[in-house]
Amino acid sequence: MDLGLKGKKAIVCAASKGLGKGCALALAREGVDLVINSRTKATLDATADEIRSETGVSVTAVACDITTPEGRAAVLKAAGPIDILINNAGGPPPGNFRDWSIEDWQKAINANMLTAIELIRLTVDGMIERKFGRVVNITSGAVKAPIPILGLSNGARAGLTGFVAGAARETVRHNVTINGLLPGPFDTDRLRGNMKLQAEKAGMPYEAFSKQQAEKNPAGRFGTADEFGAACAFLCSVHAGFITGQNVLMDGGAFPGTL
Ligand code: NAP
Repeated sequence: MDLGLKGKKAIVCAASKGLGKGCALALAREGVDLVINSRTKATLDATADEIRSETGVSVTAVACDITTPEGRAAVLKAAGPIDILINNAGGPPPGNFRDWSIEDWQKAINANMLTAIELIRLTVDGMIERKFGRVVNITSGAVKAPIPILGLSNGARAGLTGFVAGAARETVRHNVTINGLLPGPFDTDRLRGNMKLQAEKAGMPYEAFSKQQAEKNPAGRFGTADEFGAACAFLCSVHAGFITGQNVLMDGGAFPGTL
């Protein structure tokens, strides 16, 4: 299927690794020119080179923290008018809610709710004027089924999801859609890092623990960044203009509900 995206321009936030990189690559494979971002310049530049040499699209790499006003300004300036916005940032740390201060909450809400809302605010009217826009927010399966130790993520991402539920119904008339893509367990550095800690706590070797966790998923494995990127690219496609305000769960069937 031709997704109809050749020559469009996208910002993909937090895209040097993992799910953001999966989305950037999938869009680039459809001929989308990119502005990608993350904080570590060397990793980001290497990813930009990799995407350029595989796909031949234009890739501008902006090394900055997307959760700061300066970072967002730098990314938006480098991009100019865009057709597609993929919101992403690192997730907040796990813990016990009794230990979290107002500052901890403010940090999580800034990174995983307000940063995405601000980037939507600063780009959506241009998309409306040009009669095409696609926004995908990378959130988490925790929006659908909260994970107790990730309370900061559960709360901040639910706030973003609530905001989008309203805004997405306002923009769709202009062919501008806003959707959430909710990852369950995907084989990325973040998942591997979390599992190393859990394996240590459980007193198990990492490989055995990881295999056990993967087996628990109905699919018998973790998801891949390529699979995540492909779903993202479809939501960004010209064919997806009637899908808005949705939260698409990708978890191998782990959420046990009928709907
Ligand atoms: P990852 O493999 O660790 O990659 C994170 C990427 O984000 C890196 O490129 C990192 O580069 C960049 N980044 C982090 N903080 C940033 C910031 N403040 N500004 C700019 N770039 C930033 O993580 P992932 O697994 O792809 O996760 C992506 C998102 O999905 C996270 O919010 C995570 O919580 C969520 N999620 C993941 C899973 C999963 O199973 N993988 C499940 C549920 C939810 P730098 O560190 O160099 O900035």
